[in-house]
Amino acid sequence: MGLTTILRGFKVPIAVLDRFLASNAVDTTGGCPPFLTPDLDSNGIPLDPHSAFLRAKLAAAGDNNSLARIFIPNRRGQDSCTHAYVAHAYVMVFAQRKITLAADLPDRAPPGFAELRREILGFAEEGEEALLRVDGMQGEEGEEPASLLYVVITEERAFPFARPFVPESVLTCEKCGAVFEAWVNLHYHCSEAHNLEMRGYTSPFPDNF
Ligand SMILES: [Zn+2]
Repeated sequence: MGLTTILRGFKVPIAVLDRFLASNAVDTTGGCPPFLTPDLDSNGIPLDPHSAFLRAKLAAAGDNNSLARIFIPNRRGQDSCTHAYVAHAYVMVFAQRKITLAADLPDRAPPGFAELRREILGFAEEGEEALLRVDGMQGEEGEEPASLLYVVITEERAFPFARPFVPESVLTCEKCGAVFEAWVNLHYHCSEAHNLEMRGYTSPFPDNF
C-alpha cells in the first residue's frame, strides 16, 4: 500500500542512531522501518519500542505530549537506506491531503528535541564524517536543524486507519456528525445507528482522501 509521510524533525545516520539506542539498552533498528506494534501510545496509536523510548526521554525533558517517531525510508528495492529520521510532528498521506503547515507541521521543535538531536549525533564515530554531511543533515542558513521538513516514502508498513494518521473529516459520520478514533468504529456506527452500508474494507475511504 502506498504511504507517504511528511515530517518535521532531523535526519540521522542509522549506524549512529542504532549506537545511541544500544547504549540505552533499547533494541536497534538494524535499518528496518520500525513496526507500529505492539504497544499503544497515549492516543491509542501503535508505537514501536524505539520511538517509545524517545518519547519517555522527551517527557523527562519537559515534553509530555511528544509525538516523536522514527521513520526509515523505503528505497523500493534499491540498497537499504543509510539514514533515518526522527520526527517531532508528521502527517501520513494515503493518496492526497491538504496540509496546514503551522498546525500540522510546526517549524518550532518542542522542548528537549534539539538536545536529543545533539545527543544522538554525539554517537557518531571516526570515519562517519561523510554520513554527517549528506544532503538534508544540516538544512539551510537560518533553519533549525532539529526541525527540518522532509518527505519520506514509508509504504511497506500497514496504514493505521485511525487518528492521527487519518484526518478527522474522514472519521466523521456524515449523518450525525459523531467523530471516531478509528475508521472501523465509524463503520460499525453507520451500520448500527443508521443502518447504512459503508464502503467495503478493501476500499473504505472516499476518493478525495
Ligand atoms: Zn452517525
